[in-house]
Amino acid sequence: MTELMDKGLDVEVMATDRSTSIQKIIREQYPDVQHEFDIWHTAKGFRKKMQKGKKKDTEILLASTRSVINHVWYSCATSKGDVEVLKRRWKSIQHHVCNEHEWTDDDGQQHMCDHAPLTSHEQKMRMWMTKDSVAFQDLSSLVLDKRLLRDVEKMGLFKHTGPLEVFHSALLKYLPKRQAFSFQGMRERCQLAILEHNENIVKRKQATTTTGQARFKQVFSKRSKQWVLKKIFTPHTTELFDTLIQRVMDRRQNPNIVSKVPTSLLPLPQPALPPNIAPVRKPSKEAAMSSFQSSFLDKQFPMAAYNSIFSHSCVYSDSATTVYI
Ligand SMILES: [Zn+2]
Repeated sequence: MTELMDKGLDVEVMATDRSTSIQKIIREQYPDVQHEFDIWHTAKGFRKKMQKGKKKDTEILLASTRSVINHVWYSCATSKGDVEVLKRRWKSIQHHVCNEHEWTDDDGQQHMCDHAPLTSHEQKMRMWMTKDSVAFQDLSSLVLDKRLLRDVEKMGLFKHTGPLEVFHSALLKYLPKRQAFSFQGMRERCQLAILEHNENIVKRKQATTTTGQARFKQVFSKRSKQWVLKKIFTPHTTELFDTLIQRVMDRRQNPNIVSKVPTSLLPLPQPALPPNIAPVRKPSKEAAMSSFQSSFLDKQFPMAAYNSIFSHSCVYSDSATTVYI
């Protein structure tokens, strides 16, 4: 990040997971950068804690997990940076899970859930908690956890790594992991992926019908095992790359532009790269073999198996079957 800032990038907000070491680095080294927590990581951690309930209250906690996790996202998405609103909305889940959708807070203020009133059928179909149940006590202690409430204050801007995951997925089209590329190749392929991402993901809008209604599709979620609505976006466009290719061709065919190098292999600056990514020096092969044989083979394998591995001899035989490795 220091390198990016040195190059003139104005970093206002940084979103990371809740690692305490990263919090310390940003607090001490980048005091002007606002540190936010990635909501996906927080929601994932909370889901795990809910699923660790004791046997007798596991069923209702599991049944409530999905709506509580949705509430994490909803609270962050709708607080618009107001931390107090976010905390109040987050704590309100304690009322909702008990089928209590209007309540009075300790300060005497009236509050209500944001969802539409539930029909009697909807109320019957859901599992509700009672305030004296073990499940409710467990959930309350998780919702009101001091560290979580402190961390929630860094989630008001609704930052999460979803768009980054989308970019990493799109990057595979240009940089498949099964192929090796030169440094220059890596850099240029990354640049192409960034151009396409900005053109087709960042600028893309939700598709609308002829009457201006936002379009959605229904897809079956394997994780939640339910049908969910997903936005339909405007189609991808190749206009940017068509234009780029055309400009390259026009330049190449322009008789007024004469390249000093007769081929397309223009010399590119090569940065000083280390021979590999290892942070420690490679030991000699003899030392590695000696260490391997003394610390692994002698302790883990009987001598017969050791011999068979290196000689490809028969390791198991009876009257009917012979197995070689
Ligand atoms: Zn409610």
